[in-house]
Amino acid sequence: MYAGAIAAMVLSAITMFLPPLIARTAIDYVIVGKQLNAPGFIRGFIQWAGGRDLLVHNLWIASLTIVAISAISGVFAYLKGRWASIASETIARRLRNRLYDHLQHLPCSYHDKVDTGDLVQRCSSDVDTIRTFLASRVVEIGRGGIMLAVALPIMLAMNAWMAFLATMLLGPIIFFSIIFFVRIKNVFKQMRQAEGSMTATLQENLTGIRVVRAFARQDFECEKFAVKNALYRDRWRRLMHIMSWFWSLSSLLCMMQVGIVLLAGGYYVSRAEMSVGTFSAFFMFVNMYLWPLRRVGRIMADLGRSVVSISRVNDILDAKREDHEDGPAIIPHMTTPIRGQIVFENVSFSYDGHREVLRDVSFHVEPGQTLAILGPSGSGKTTLIYLLLRLYDYQKGSIRLDGKELRLLDRKFIRSQIGVVLQDPFLYSKSIRDNIKLGRSTATEKEMIKAASTAHVHAAIEDFDSGYDTIVGERGVTLSGGQRQRVALARAILKDPPILILDDALSNVDTRTENLILNALKRESPSNKGQRTTLVIAHRLSTLMAADKIIVLDAGRIVQSGTHETLLNQPGLYRRLWNVQSSFDEQLGCYAEQSDRTSDNEEYPDEY
Ligand code: ADP
Ligand code: MG
Repeated sequence: MYAGAIAAMVLSAITMFLPPLIARTAIDYVIVGKQLNAPGFIRGFIQWAGGRDLLVHNLWIASLTIVAISAISGVFAYLKGRWASIASETIARRLRNRLYDHLQHLPCSYHDKVDTGDLVQRCSSDVDTIRTFLASRVVEIGRGGIMLAVALPIMLAMNAWMAFLATMLLGPIIFFSIIFFVRIKNVFKQMRQAEGSMTATLQENLTGIRVVRAFARQDFECEKFAVKNALYRDRWRRLMHIMSWFWSLSSLLCMMQVGIVLLAGGYYVSRAEMSVGTFSAFFMFVNMYLWPLRRVGRIMADLGRSVVSISRVNDILDAKREDHEDGPAIIPHMTTPIRGQIVFENVSFSYDGHREVLRDVSFHVEPGQTLAILGPSGSGKTTLIYLLLRLYDYQKGSIRLDGKELRLLDRKFIRSQIGVVLQDPFLYSKSIRDNIKLGRSTATEKEMIKAASTAHVHAAIEDFDSGYDTIVGERGVTLSGGQRQRVALARAILKDPPILILDDALSNVDTRTENLILNALKRESPSNKGQRTTLVIAHRLSTLMAADKIIVLDAGRIVQSGTHETLLNQPGLYRRLWNVQSSFDEQLGCYAEQSDRTSDNEEYPDEY
């Protein structure tokens, strides 16, 4: 289709040359009655149309022919525009889809390094720059050149001196145009930077709108925005100012070129050295190739921008996919669910290659067991989970799932076997039903409600005006922290995985409900196998004490491990925490119980 567009552009440019030639013949031969000095096909056409005698009395035939040919040229121009835009839209659409797909498969370590706003820009405005260039500029590059290439021999054949005069300013016009657009590149860039900075301010403000309100920073924010906005306006104005100069100066140059043709033509005609017809043909030609040619600089500038955009887009496409370096997975398409045995053996890991976030971590969990992980923030608990999900690949040691080396298992398969609830769960701005069903889209309504009940959130949802159809707002803002966590939990439960991981997932839920949920989870087991392995990261020891095994992480190392009883009987972090937390509970006494009740709708009886 793109080739068709270019062909149509060439045809439209070529057919445009016929009207001046016809006008010339009509004036010189038909009206004035001079010798016919025209290409053979025009002679043939005149004979066919009835000779000069007929034509001189029917001048409309010449006019109509010009109109008809212009119309044909117009049809080609239309086809050019249409095909070029269809082709470039298709290219842009495919490119965006490819980028999006690629982004889904890039490893987390890639996303850690790049700026989200920048990625968004690459996928939207950079693709758009390429699209615009393909749609309008590429086919334009050739147009002026082709027009000149076709017109020049014709003009030379008609009158060589005049041809020289009619093209003498082309050099300066093209030169000026190119120089100009090279020089204002920076102005363009500054304008774009100002625009980007304004948009970034807007986005940041909207994301943090609650913080802004809470700290009564609206005036400050408005002022900040106004400054960026004014800068953008200034840059834009400056650009427009320079552009006005360019267009008027280059118009002046072009008009000078037209003026030269008029003057010289008038001179030659008055001395009878050139016919009126030839003069008018020259006049029409010069107007044809002049105007597209003065845009050459613009096209070159756009070409430069597109090249930059293409390389920015390529940066993304060149990044290695998550599965790129995977050797042949041992069990690429394992269909049977795993039993849920997890073994870590001397695992060390660092995000950046320098600082080890996990050091020599070893532990094992048998199928159906519950492992509790405790540790100060930053000790590497979440990292441990990331490794298990193969969001990052461990560098030293070995992780085994049911005895199989994790690195050799297919990522998709691993993730299908694990349900995770993160501390700050992500909800889509869809209905609660859709959010929960994300766990398993084929689940029935009954199964969904069962999962919500296990997560102790069913009653709260029922209480909403539209129940499960309630839209939760962007990232779930219309839910309380605890509700959000429990909806995410329901989602993971509905997935019905052999391994369930709660990464501080109930931190915003009160202690009593947390224990109810954990007990419900214990009773609940995956449908396919009898038992579910559970990893719980939490800070409340009352939550952890029931676990089959507890490990305590500190600065990436396991400093203690065992059951609640064994850990209580040895000096260390666990016992210190226990002392602090239990004395805290004692101090709070009955108030704790009371405040539990009032927070977060936890007290709804679960009627499922
Ligand atoms: P925890 O969950 O125990 O609070 P994390 O596992 O989240 O701890 O973090 C452990 C350490 O790893 C922290 O020091 C943190 O700064 C670092 N870290 C976490 N995520 C990244 C990342 N994406 N890139 C680099 N460092 C990270
Ligand atoms: Mg964490």
